[in-house]
Amino acid sequence: MGRYIIRESSKNEADAAFSQTIEAGDGIFKLIKKGQTLRITDLCGQQGVDVYFMDALDCQDHYSPLKTIVNQKNLYITSGTVLMSEGAKELLKITATNCPEHDTLGGACSSQSNTVRYAHSTEYMHNCRDTFIRLIAGDGRYLKRDVGANINVLTSVPFTPEGKTSFNVSPSKKGSYIEFEALTDVMLLISNCPQINNPCAGFNPTEIKLNVWN
Ligand SMILES: [Zn+2]
Repeated sequence: MGRYIIRESSKNEADAAFSQTIEAGDGIFKLIKKGQTLRITDLCGQQGVDVYFMDALDCQDHYSPLKTIVNQKNLYITSGTVLMSEGAKELLKITATNCPEHDTLGGACSSQSNTVRYAHSTEYMHNCRDTFIRLIAGDGRYLKRDVGANINVLTSVPFTPEGKTSFNVSPSKKGSYIEFEALTDVMLLISNCPQINNPCAGFNPTEIKLNVWN
């Protein structure tokens, strides 16, 4: 499998069963049924999006970056990637993307990581971990411990030969997207990243769109 595989979608947005614009700093927690396809689209360009999945049929099982990376023998997720759970269940398949880079390593920004990475004064800035926890709190079935390591779509976090990672300038353009087909019922958790201390959102977080097809 190559590092990145560009594959255009055959879906027509007019046929989508669900469409919602998500402002920067906001998110969504939504059931995606087996067989449905979801698309996340960057509406303005240079917008990284934090995405996490849980097995909707087993609240104890969640997306696993380790299982996903080992299973496909590729550090990066791209067209054709199957997202695996901690219990080695196939959760979703990436059916299309026109963006070259999506990240499995960087995780969600949080008050703690902001403090360590940038400055103590950034501790109180709104962050993706806060959005995740706020969204699952209303559901009642999930706790903080259920939100593990997520993926960052439309985001460049290269792993260097020196063994380091960094948040690069977002590779996403206006209209860049990624599409997933659910292989089982999953809970989709999105935080549209409000980060302004690194270039994952171009230092100017902007809105995205979520589409779901039956
Ligand atoms: Zn973030």
